[in-house]
Amino acid sequence: MQHGEAPPVVLILGAGVNGACVARELAINGVGVVIVDRHDIATGATAKSSRLIHGGLRYLEYGDVGLVRESLNERARLLRLAPQYVRPLRLHIPVARRTGGLIQAAFRFFKLNRIAASFPFKAGRGLWAVRIGLWIYDYLADSDADVRYRVHRVGEAGLPAVNSNQYRWLCSYSDAQILSPERFVLSLLDDARRAARKRGVRFDVRTYHTAAIRSGQVWISPVEGDGEDETLYPATIVNATGAGGDRTLQSLGVDAERLFGGTKGSHLFTSHPGLRKALGDDGVYAETADGRLVFVLPCGESVMIGTTDVRVEIDPLEVTASDQEIAYLLQMVDAVFPGVGVGPHDVTAHYCGVRPLPYVSTGKTGAIPRGHAIVHGSAASIPIDTLVGGKLTTCRQFGEVAADQILTRLGVPRTATTRNRVIPGGEDYPANDGQLAARLQSAADRAGWSIHQAAAVWDLIGSRLDPLAEEFACGSGETITGTTIPQSFVDWSIRNEAPKHLEDLIERRLMLAWSRDLSLETLRDVAARMVAAGRLPESQLAAEIDRSRRRLEHFYGRRFGD
Ligand SMILES: Cc1cc2nc3c(=O)[nH]c(=O)nc-3n(C[C@H](O)[C@H](O)[C@H](O)COP(=O)(O)OP(=O)(O)OC[C@H]3O[C@@H](n4cnc5c(N)ncnc54)[C@H](O)[C@@H]3O)c2cc1C
Repeated sequence: MQHGEAPPVVLILGAGVNGACVARELAINGVGVVIVDRHDIATGATAKSSRLIHGGLRYLEYGDVGLVRESLNERARLLRLAPQYVRPLRLHIPVARRTGGLIQAAFRFFKLNRIAASFPFKAGRGLWAVRIGLWIYDYLADSDADVRYRVHRVGEAGLPAVNSNQYRWLCSYSDAQILSPERFVLSLLDDARRAARKRGVRFDVRTYHTAAIRSGQVWISPVEGDGEDETLYPATIVNATGAGGDRTLQSLGVDAERLFGGTKGSHLFTSHPGLRKALGDDGVYAETADGRLVFVLPCGESVMIGTTDVRVEIDPLEVTASDQEIAYLLQMVDAVFPGVGVGPHDVTAHYCGVRPLPYVSTGKTGAIPRGHAIVHGSAASIPIDTLVGGKLTTCRQFGEVAADQILTRLGVPRTATTRNRVIPGGEDYPANDGQLAARLQSAADRAGWSIHQAAAVWDLIGSRLDPLAEEFACGSGETITGTTIPQSFVDWSIRNEAPKHLEDLIERRLMLAWSRDLSLETLRDVAARMVAAGRLPESQLAAEIDRSRRRLEHFYGRRFGD
């Protein structure tokens, strides 16, 4: 950049986790950013994942040692920098026999997939195969002794009560869970916005907008026709629209080879008390009859079960969990926890997302590479970088690599990094449960809330609650129906987190889409706060509630009485 020139602006399409990470990297380095999402922030795969921050134990079988090592490094970093969202989780692999799967795994590890596939299929990775995998996993993670893998006998106290007729051992290991990647994205954007303000560069997030290139410039337009068009001359466009990346390139007029070959994965939620009790506070990672691995994970008062892996061609934002997928996942739960009896009526919610995987025309979906890459192109002389692949776990690193390439192209020196930059809400984080309880009590006293209300808000914004507690005291201490979230927090979110629709609050600000006690009354309560804040005309209240309800029914399988 020449002295006296206006700082460059990069246009990022897609406000999922990867778009947000690139934006943050650029903002802290003094590059202006405009993010455009055709929906709300984090509407795509980011909100439809298994919510794990993991090294990817399964990828070891495919010899992706580099990816596993990188993921484990990022897992450690996120546990340190975003403790409000990323928490350690112990997982258990039920194992039935001593041997099995080792030779196939070895061939796959050395990328000899054809030879591995020539072995007759027999489900059930044996104890030795699992032990070797976990040993390598711990070695790559440089795990402390207390979190290294262990082998337990099924039936030991304090472990998931899996089928003792089927399994003999539980191999336990450590990974991490992120219950609110949606809120994580909000925090990343908040950090980026603050950094941009400090650096004096532009930072705008335009949700419910699309971008098109006409006459050599970019036009940014509202999708609901309720605002002005804007034109922009970005220095670069980043296509971070996830599995819809090919469609985005087409809409920009780029004639490119097919880049994405997404597979859809569904998850279901149940608050079945028997399953929640049998699972305890840990997760289970079990092999199904077809050799796939499926998670059963604690999610607050619920249990999340996933996932499937099915090739799809439709718009990634339109996918839903099919009856077959739900039946498949329930069947798996029944095999692992047979006495519990979880049936279709116990499913509180489900969702489905599309992995932004690279296009591979044939072969097993499980064998499609899970790494990430940046593909360069251009339209109307504007460089376009398309982000292909990636995981929640590696989003920071992917954002760093993408930003490095852009900074180099723009001639902007890197002056700041995110390697040790705390995600807002993770600052001054309590070191133990006792300290956390004291902090919650103090915040509750200052905000005029109960400790349960303070805990609910802490789960959403972490230690940002501390400086905001007095501000919350100005509002009502009443809670939103079916939750322990105070109305005053919802009012704050409406003022500060730019929700446009009721669904933005329910699904991605308050994290209620799969909550057991979500009801129509909850929707009415939150919508009423939008009216009170002047964000929703009273005349549109019923239509807005209906819109959110229909979305929850269609995309989350929720059922509401009247
Ligand atoms: C079933 C499943 C399970 C997974 N489990 C895990 C896991 O446990 N751990 C893990 O680390 N990773 C997991 N992943 C992977 C991870 O979720 C994704 O790799 C990651 O979220 C991708 O983020 P993204 O920002 O690239 O895309 P997305 O999150 O899909 O975001 C894309 C955004 O672009 C917007 N958009 C789309 N088209 C346009 C357009 N034309 N213009 C503007 N905006 C547009 C969308 O609205 C969306 O907000 C899983 C993925 C799936 C699907």
